[in-house]
Amino acid sequence: MAAADPDCLFCKIVAGEIPATIVARDDRTIAFMDINPATRGHTLVIPRAHARDVHEIETEDLEAVAATAQRIAALAVERLGADGVNLLNSNGPAAWQTVFHFHMHVIPRYAGDPLRLPWDPAPGNMDHVAAAGAELTR
Ligand code: 5GP
Ligand code: ZN
Repeated sequence: MAAADPDCLFCKIVAGEIPATIVARDDRTIAFMDINPATRGHTLVIPRAHARDVHEIETEDLEAVAATAQRIAALAVERLGADGVNLLNSNGPAAWQTVFHFHMHVIPRYAGDPLRLPWDPAPGNMDHVAAAGAELTR
């Protein structure tokens, strides 16, 4: 596995050094709630191994991220009542990437919701974020 990057926010979440509402984990990936949710249930899926972007990530890790994202997408429909799901991955600042540890956004969509992409990130209500995380893990 690639060495953790000591300056990387998401490596710190993998290591448990900063808190996150983790909703799924396996050998290669973890999934946790986005703190600036675009919609209820907005989740990030990341490889445990540090990789900056789609160009750096090992193919096996990309496959594992896709599999976890598929599971979270299904939970978003089953548990949160999502009517649709956007899977979104940004690579490079020109493509809106702001955290440079590969991540797949799983964004539940609700019929008629006001979200337009790209969204303007704003801090979520942490009680609501935690409640959505609890629904995904119950
Ligand atoms: P990007 O803009 O790189 O595609 O997505 C980065 C995402 O990481 C953003 O949606 C942002 O809200 C989220 N994020 C940034 N810092 C943190 C954090 O400390 N914890 C969590 N859970 N999400 C974060
Ligand atoms: Zn990292």
